[in-house]
Amino acid sequence: MSNYLPLGKFSFGMGDRFGHQGQAQLRACLRATELGADVVPVWNKSNREHTFIGTEPSSLRAEADAATRALGWKKSYHVDADHIRLETVDRFIAPSDFFTIDVADTIGKPAAAADVQAFVDRHPELAGKISIPKIKQPLAVSRAEVERVANKFLLAVQDAGRIYRHIAQTKGETSFITEVSMDETDSPQTPPELLMILAAIADEKIPIQTIAPKFTGRFNKGVDYVGDLKQFEKEFNEDLAVIAFAIQKYGLPSSLKLSVHSGSDKFSLYQPMRRALKKFGAGVHLKTAGTTWLEELIGLAEAGGDGLEIAQEIYADAIQHVDEFCAPYATVIDIDKDQLPAAGAVNGWSSKQFTDALRHDQKNPAYNRSFRQLLHVSFKVAAKMGDRYLNALKKHEAVVAKNVTENLLERHMKPLLLGTRRPAKKAPRREAVPA
Ligand SMILES: [Zn+2]
Repeated sequence: MSNYLPLGKFSFGMGDRFGHQGQAQLRACLRATELGADVVPVWNKSNREHTFIGTEPSSLRAEADAATRALGWKKSYHVDADHIRLETVDRFIAPSDFFTIDVADTIGKPAAAADVQAFVDRHPELAGKISIPKIKQPLAVSRAEVERVANKFLLAVQDAGRIYRHIAQTKGETSFITEVSMDETDSPQTPPELLMILAAIADEKIPIQTIAPKFTGRFNKGVDYVGDLKQFEKEFNEDLAVIAFAIQKYGLPSSLKLSVHSGSDKFSLYQPMRRALKKFGAGVHLKTAGTTWLEELIGLAEAGGDGLEIAQEIYADAIQHVDEFCAPYATVIDIDKDQLPAAGAVNGWSSKQFTDALRHDQKNPAYNRSFRQLLHVSFKVAAKMGDRYLNALKKHEAVVAKNVTENLLERHMKPLLLGTRRPAKKAPRREAVPA
């Protein structure tokens, strides 16, 4: 008997800020499953998103339950309290069964000196040469290095332990999945650091099933990866090797896997990730969030008429507040303001012009990554519109849903989980998505 709720091998985190796309998202999972990828849907929404939109965590549970009921989904699915902390977790505990414990804030703050010393003493195996299967060079770590890493991460892991126990006491330890996230911090964690962090997590007795490190390179919101692909692939492979090793060495759950907080749409990483996962027989959790909100905008623009008008209005508001909206996301967006069209110009755009600029099709010369990133962080404008926005989603549900499903299935699930390339632009669709 395990002391945790087991998570399937391939799980897919989906965000739905306005709560209307649950079925459209689940259709992508259904289709992927029919095609042979056994994908576990996980709906994720952070405290931050709930606060911006004005929703309660229970609404995400209601949405997930309703979508799975409506489409007859019989397999497992989960509701992820994304990036929670001790001070924000309480309202998530009842409706969620997946908790992403965010300890980024305590990384770098030293734990009590005696605790650091005890960790170093308890883990002599972490110092010296560590041979890890499938990593060519043994890791070489000095005792001083173990101490440095403990000083940087031990408090964060202790913090995760406190939050985990708080949830477990309230909810019961067998009824949820635990993730620890460290992605929203300044520097990436190296594979040796990951090993030491996992040793500390095992000491805290957290039955961790997914860990979200910060990877090398930039994970800008809604656009492709920017960084050294070779280096990413090397570290991703080493992370998988470290995880397999830590499961054995420290008795962590056998389902432990990486969680990639993608910021959505890291298309160029899917092939290297897929190669590595195959090599290790490993699973993965991929988190996307804002990509669905952008598909709502694309669907509205594609619908034309009042749908296109709303999309244009949102952009006009966004460009007026560009500095304000971008400030909180400075480390995860790279907008070239010269590439942002004037609101007046966009107001004259056709449906095709709007969707060509926004849709993440890097082969389309009209695709505009600055335009896309700005709209990615501008969902507050739609939240402010309230019912007008939500009613437009309802009115244009068919075209919006088609875009939401197709995006997740064709651009994300197929390349990562099935290894099929995205169809070329305007190529006839090979499989129709069931309506
Ligand atoms: Zn994250």
